[in-house]
Amino acid sequence: MPKRPVKYVFVLGGVMSGLGKGIASASIGYLLKSRGLRVTIMKLDPYLNVDPGTMNPYQHGEVFVLDDGSETDLDLGHYERFINVPMSKANNTTSGQIYQTVLDKERKGDYLGQTIQVIPHITDAIKERIKSINKPKRFDVIICEVGGTVGDIESLPFLETIRQIRLEEGRENCFIAHVTLVPYVKASEELKTKPTQHSVMKLREIGLEPDILLCRTSYTLTKSVKDKIALFCNVRPSHVIEARDVKNIYEVPLVFNRQGVGDIILNQFNLDGKSPDVSQLEMFIDRFKNPTHEVSIALCGKYTELPDAYKSVLEAFIHSGVENDARVNIKWVNVEKIVEYDDCQKQLSDVDGILVLPGFGDRGIEGKILCGRYAREEKVPYLGICLGLQTAIIEFARNVCGLEKANSTEFSKRTPHPVIGLMKAQKRIRNKGGTMRLGAYPCELTTGTRTFAAYRRKRISERHRHRYEVNNKYRKILEKQGMIFSGINPDLNLVEIIEFSDHPWFVACQFHPELKSRVNSAHPLFREFVKAALKHQNFK
Ligand code: GLN
Repeated sequence: MPKRPVKYVFVLGGVMSGLGKGIASASIGYLLKSRGLRVTIMKLDPYLNVDPGTMNPYQHGEVFVLDDGSETDLDLGHYERFINVPMSKANNTTSGQIYQTVLDKERKGDYLGQTIQVIPHITDAIKERIKSINKPKRFDVIICEVGGTVGDIESLPFLETIRQIRLEEGRENCFIAHVTLVPYVKASEELKTKPTQHSVMKLREIGLEPDILLCRTSYTLTKSVKDKIALFCNVRPSHVIEARDVKNIYEVPLVFNRQGVGDIILNQFNLDGKSPDVSQLEMFIDRFKNPTHEVSIALCGKYTELPDAYKSVLEAFIHSGVENDARVNIKWVNVEKIVEYDDCQKQLSDVDGILVLPGFGDRGIEGKILCGRYAREEKVPYLGICLGLQTAIIEFARNVCGLEKANSTEFSKRTPHPVIGLMKAQKRIRNKGGTMRLGAYPCELTTGTRTFAAYRRKRISERHRHRYEVNNKYRKILEKQGMIFSGINPDLNLVEIIEFSDHPWFVACQFHPELKSRVNSAHPLFREFVKAALKHQNFK
């Protein structure tokens, strides 16, 4: 039997950023996977940073960490959550990485005699990166999302590479999905198609044209609007898809499915997959829309006006809310505004659970410490993530163990009680990029703890992204006053999870549980935290 060629779906974006290309890519992935195809998704980011690990959340939102320790774009979180396939470093490529590879080769003399140019050297390197994800062959379809907007100077080499791949592999093996915007102009009460037309024109200038248009809109696209877009953009009307705003991003695959997106792609590929089974997702959406309970959770952090900075945490609450038959209402609490214990009373007395978010740098630290104290003393369910574990330890050391000036050496180099500090290996590190404790590490749980009850397993693996650790020298003192170390890294002997026995539910972890929460498989700590918050509500 001849070998079936690999199929490529390229997802591009026009008009402006923020139209949900990542979710569109993940949704296409979901639909193809639900037809029995083996799928992976790549993100091609045009910026020159090697990875987003050193970028400010304001610039880039959350950094999504994978098992292999790579720090990647937050869209990889959507990919993993939608298609439930673990990603690796190979799934996120930046222009920075491409240029680094080419320049390293140039210095080694691999191109002796040649002038290095964008075409063919950079485009060849991009092509190689795209193709190498399937070596050895594991996937039937590779979906490649290109970051940025068509028309940006930075994304040109990626688009040129796609043009070349399409030429080499044939149109029956390449599919281009273009995500655009159809805005509504209130004054004239009209949906406008011109921005879409222009972005398709821009694509054509570089030798590409879309096979499908995924049109973001807040209103129904009427037949006449679809026909107009089809005519001007040279696609069939049935290939103009209405991507209407939805309440829950997990509805997008269902919206696409109803409009035949999967069939359109498979037709072009001459593939016949089995009919898709989307029943699990339908059930999930149904439960999301009709919850019996409601619960309110405070998210305490620094970037409260920028929800993208905590994307995976928000997603984890959608998953864990559904599993608890509850709508989770988020209350953002800016920890820089919590200066005194009384501020906690004002901000936190109306919530059922308190989550202290991860973070870097000393801004807002004392606020996080106060939130932890409030949760501990008032017996409000608490989940601390990474920095939220470190501040809980500082709080307990200061207020229960009597170590008055206890701190992390990240915030106070000269603290007399460095309850949180750097490991030896970290002390030698000078470079900031990719040098934290990153990726999956094993952890052993103590039986009989709340943590063990959540996971129901002795050995777990979770993803990390931090430099500082609980200082083992203080373990005895903390333990003596009632802190339980319910999860320990068996290889490095590091504290990974803490809890208290005299509290309804107070758990904090050094890793990032939110990165592994999925639809219909919420992370155990989030699931139990929401459950505890619901219980707390009944006792309030
Ligand atoms: N700043 C802390 C550290 O580096 C916590 C990091 C985090 O919350 N991800 O250890």
